[in-house]
Amino acid sequence: MTDKNISTQESVESGITEGGRTGAFRDVLAKDHARRGKPPIHFTDMSVDERIAKAQELGLPKFRVKQLANHYYGHFDVNANDFTDFPASARQQVAEEFFPTLITEVTHQVADDGMTIKTLWNLFDNAKIESVLMRYPNRATLCISSQVGCGMGCPFCATGKLGLTRNMSTGEILEQVRVAAKMMQDGKVAGGPGRLSNVVFMGMGEPMGNYRALISAVKQISAMPPEGFGISARNITVSTVGVVPGIRKLTQEGIPVRLAVSLHAPNNELRDELVPMNKRFNVDEVLDAAHDYYLASKRRVSIEYALMRGINDQEIHARQLANKLNHYGDNWAHVNPIPLNPIEGSKWTASKPEDEERFLDILHEAGITATLRDTRGQDIDGACGQLAAKNV
Ligand code: SF4
Repeated sequence: MTDKNISTQESVESGITEGGRTGAFRDVLAKDHARRGKPPIHFTDMSVDERIAKAQELGLPKFRVKQLANHYYGHFDVNANDFTDFPASARQQVAEEFFPTLITEVTHQVADDGMTIKTLWNLFDNAKIESVLMRYPNRATLCISSQVGCGMGCPFCATGKLGLTRNMSTGEILEQVRVAAKMMQDGKVAGGPGRLSNVVFMGMGEPMGNYRALISAVKQISAMPPEGFGISARNITVSTVGVVPGIRKLTQEGIPVRLAVSLHAPNNELRDELVPMNKRFNVDEVLDAAHDYYLASKRRVSIEYALMRGINDQEIHARQLANKLNHYGDNWAHVNPIPLNPIEGSKWTASKPEDEERFLDILHEAGITATLRDTRGQDIDGACGQLAAKNV
């Protein structure tokens, strides 16, 4: 079977491509994937009907499900003690059956005067993932993981070096959000109590490689309580390395999340090296899909571009990028050049400041909006592409 023959459905759901010798095709699950089993089923993994059936199994009437949803999405509660509107005798069982512990903190690091917190989580099978909470004057953004490791094999990325262990369940994805929302509510982040306002799928993993869980999570993050956490879809960013069938499916969902595409190179020769997935979906295919997303959603697409010294940060690259984007018209994309955060053992390093500046100037002169992205959390390896804990 050639790549082209792999069905859209298959590639979106699994992120798995045909095997091969290059990094492009390292997106195969680790050999021990099958042995790991599945995470315990959580409230957020169930449909409403499944929740009702489960409640009935426990001898509880239907209306209790709505109460639980209120606790979870509205108050971020999962502990028996919090379920004071339940009979005392049922609380413990309800908590255990509906809200099994899916993520346990191993450690956390604090930076930026307490405004950035990176947490390493242990999952049921001892897999480790990370999330980063970043508070700004007018918002609080959580960067979450959607897979354990990542199979896309970008050679400059710490997470890529881990390979893909497994997809995360919807519950595992959403628990990162609930805990962060609770931390904000309880004033556990410098600056006092507040509200989690933004969620970005830019942590470990390629979200489109775990599409079903991604969409379920997006719906439950954006729906209003008691169906979800009530964080506007416009404040959710889904980042992809360019899995075109995933972008196309997301377009059809009609949920106005922001799409971020990690381009990192303006031509196929270079992108083949930096983003092996390019051999499957090339620059033009990715930009076509991204532009169609813009047309359908009216949301400007973010183009992520990690600037690597002497590799993709020269004048010619900026000009090529500007031409590629302008080919589709004005104002449909926003470029986020981000200085690469060097990782140990990597031959790629951050661009020189003068090269960064020139890169930005060229884009601006070509009429393209571009802002150097904040590398918040750099001192704790928390910036994008670095979510691979040394402890993992
Ligand atoms: S840059 Fe993104 S897609 Fe590439 S390996 Fe790292 S996490 Fe995966």
